Amino acid sequence: MTLDNKDLLNFKPKNCKFAHMEQKLFVYNTLTRKKEEFIPLDAPHVGMYVCGPTVYSDVHLGNCRTFISFDLIFRYLQHLGYKVRYVRNITDAGHLEGDSDEGEDKVSKKARLAMLEPMEIVQKYTVDFHEVMKTFNALPPSIEPTATGHIIEQIELVKSILEKGYAYEVDGSVYFDVEKYNQTQDYGILNGRKLEDMLNNTRTLGGQNEKHGKLDFALWIKAKPEHLMKWPSPWGVGFPGWHLECSAMSNKYLGHKFDIHGGGMDLMATHHTNEIAQNMACCNTNPANYWLHTNMLTMNGQKMSKSLGNSFLPHELFSGSHPLLNKGYSPMTVRFFFMQASYRSTVDFSNEAIEAAEIFYKKLAETAKKLTSLQQNALVAVDDEAENVIITACEDCYRGMNDNFNSPKTLEALNNLSKWINSFAATTRNSGEITAETFSRMKKTYDDFFFDVLGLKLDDNENADTDDLMGLIVKLRNEAKTNKDYATSDKIREGLKQIGFQLNDNKQGTTDWIRI
Ligand SMILES: [Zn+2]
Repeated sequence: MTLDNKDLLNFKPKNCKFAHMEQKLFVYNTLTRKKEEFIPLDAPHVGMYVCGPTVYSDVHLGNCRTFISFDLIFRYLQHLGYKVRYVRNITDAGHLEGDSDEGEDKVSKKARLAMLEPMEIVQKYTVDFHEVMKTFNALPPSIEPTATGHIIEQIELVKSILEKGYAYEVDGSVYFDVEKYNQTQDYGILNGRKLEDMLNNTRTLGGQNEKHGKLDFALWIKAKPEHLMKWPSPWGVGFPGWHLECSAMSNKYLGHKFDIHGGGMDLMATHHTNEIAQNMACCNTNPANYWLHTNMLTMNGQKMSKSLGNSFLPHELFSGSHPLLNKGYSPMTVRFFFMQASYRSTVDFSNEAIEAAEIFYKKLAETAKKLTSLQQNALVAVDDEAENVIITACEDCYRGMNDNFNSPKTLEALNNLSKWINSFAATTRNSGEITAETFSRMKKTYDDFFFDVLGLKLDDNENADTDDLMGLIVKLRNEAKTNKDYATSDKIREGLKQIGFQLNDNKQGTTDWIRI
């Protein structure tokens, strides 16, 4: 469905009848270095491409954060009613160890060392990656193309760039001519740097005599005889340069121009810069209108890295088996922890920070569990103040996400709604004092944001255990009260309070409890 400009301006996402839709979505665009209103090329359709993992080892936590961030963006756009085609590739060939076309192919090297077929490595780590993403409740992308599945498209792209005169062939390899490209285009458009600066800051690497310029990069690389993954091409047997696959696959599935291109911030300076150059050279257009980049994950203020021994894998985090961790944390706690920061900010991992996130997540999860059984009392006189505060909190959930997917702002609004839902559930406030419309809006907004937008779910086992345990304690306390053993019943109440549980007494005794 194609809408004309008038329709586009009036386009109202379908799920937001409650939200004030004069609110507009703004996103921070790396390309322009400012927040811009998000206007899709062909609403309600949105095309989004995110650079996926290179499947040669376990996905590390920083990568998980990137993909969880784009899952949040994908979910919110869908929540607003957009029909999103989300393409996230799998790099299964062509990604060399060094950034400047040097070193061995990462997948091939692993295969050689393990004496396995490269595709065995690819299969193992693709399956593992999918499992980790599922554990984090990240939705699968609409299309997940692989580099090896698109060799023909990549060869066609190299041919086209050669024809346009922005590449040259040397002894079976093809290189992109950055300095020639920069004569008519701006090579450093994405990171705002001048070519001269980049040239001055680039070291000359050995074995690169074939390249005309220091910044030139490989589009096609001649394979040495021992190289495992190679294909015939017009320039001889070889394999594609790493940056090429994303240009080829985004062109194929999203067209020459689409809405959002995303990835980790570490991809911006080289991979994405080269991708733009390739697309400009072949198709005369920057492929995406909005370039979004996620920031790093640090550990106690330091960059996470294997050599520093301060990086861990998702399963080590879940089990608590890494020496730096006090205990294990559920995948939902980790997802929640990531969302406590905006995707553009660094997240610093520490035991204290994730323990705080765990308490906060559990508190909001307890509230989410109450939603289905929460019924409104008979209406009485409307309390305008309560009404306004609740409506504002509902709108703030959208306001947060509309401000460049600012999840911490949305969590704050959700926390405000949580307080109201808990007080209505515990009957410390009379839910009959707000209109039926506001009551159902409050429930729907909480449900929508907790489950659909933030992608959180209830940690089943943990919640079931807590429920059972609390049920038993509440029963024992009620028995103590019936027996007029107030010393014991008070001791239980105070003891629970100290560890973060509040019992809510009513005429029937104690039936409800909340985390405080
Ligand atoms: Zn890419």
